[in-house]
Amino acid sequence: PLSLSDTVEAHRICVCVRKRPLNSKEVTKNDIDVVSIPGNGTLLLHEPKQKVDLTKYLDNQVFHYDYSFDESSTNDLVYRFTAKPLVQTIFDGGMATCFAYGQTGSGKTHTMGGDFSGKSQNSAKGIYAMAAQDVFALLNQRRYSSLDLCPYVTFFEIYNSKVFDLLNKKAKLRVLEDEKQQVQVVGLQEMYVSCAEDVIKMIEMGSACRTSGQTSANANSSRSHAVLQVILRRRNQVHGKFSLVDLAGNERGIDVRSSDRQTLVETAEINRSLLALKECIRSLGMDSHHIPFRMSKLTQVLRDSFIGDNSRTCMIAMVSPGMSSCDSTVNTLRYADRVK
Ligand code: ADP
Ligand code: MG
Repeated sequence: PLSLSDTVEAHRICVCVRKRPLNSKEVTKNDIDVVSIPGNGTLLLHEPKQKVDLTKYLDNQVFHYDYSFDESSTNDLVYRFTAKPLVQTIFDGGMATCFAYGQTGSGKTHTMGGDFSGKSQNSAKGIYAMAAQDVFALLNQRRYSSLDLCPYVTFFEIYNSKVFDLLNKKAKLRVLEDEKQQVQVVGLQEMYVSCAEDVIKMIEMGSACRTSGQTSANANSSRSHAVLQVILRRRNQVHGKFSLVDLAGNERGIDVRSSDRQTLVETAEINRSLLALKECIRSLGMDSHHIPFRMSKLTQVLRDSFIGDNSRTCMIAMVSPGMSSCDSTVNTLRYADRVK
């Protein structure tokens, strides 16, 4: 049912959802699949055992997106309809961003390809690596080789409004804004890369740094945003930039009474940055001149992605299929619905 004729290329903002399969834990607990994807970008949320079209009964349980990917979709398919069309944007001198949004466990890191825990996935199979491969495929084409474009990679994490360099032992970095509102992450390592394999090595290195060697200040990778950037420079000036962002989990239902202070602070901060992100993407869609990028550190460091005539964004909202995740799923679906 998917066709590439009407892809993200035609739009500044593309919003998709991806449903993952029920996992063995959910199956064991007799969790029930409450998400259906009948095609044409539509997603249905339904009561258990009533696998009927709810369109005529419950308007708000039916959602429409540019694309809806069901549980049989591969990373490769998701990539082709989401991030792949954005690779061209950075060669055309634009800014591209791709966000993975959703509750913890919904498949953000799986989709991006930042999961290096072992067995489940290898580095070559996520959006990060596929985008890197396509960047080098274009760099090697004759029409771009005359431009003298040089590719670099940065990889950092934002936790509780603080920026940590994943390619430099999680060094804590300062963010500065000059009088022209240009934002700079001071000291961020920008690594030259000469092939896609180089990028994959950086992804592995950064992902390992993200999940291991955890200090008390950054114990849980699902509470932080991870930003991988592929930057094309031409005579040292930024020509184009592709930011691929594995967002912090947006889970619902954190119990205020039983949570410790740190969890509450983290949660408030995540909510604030995701709200800011929504507002910034919306203003990009409306060609607004006021972009509220100072609302959060995440949007501040991505500021240049929200401006310019040639900025493109894609959001992939991940959902878990289970009844037990329903609160978070509804939250995710509504958020994705309002981004555009
Ligand atoms: P998140 O980063 O959103 O917290 P993960 O990407 O770590 O979630 O996914 C949680 C688990 O579910 C992982 O074991 C992952 O391999 C698995 N998973 C996620 N999405 C899929 C999918 N589409 N198909 C198969 N397994 C998936
Ligand atoms: Mg993750």
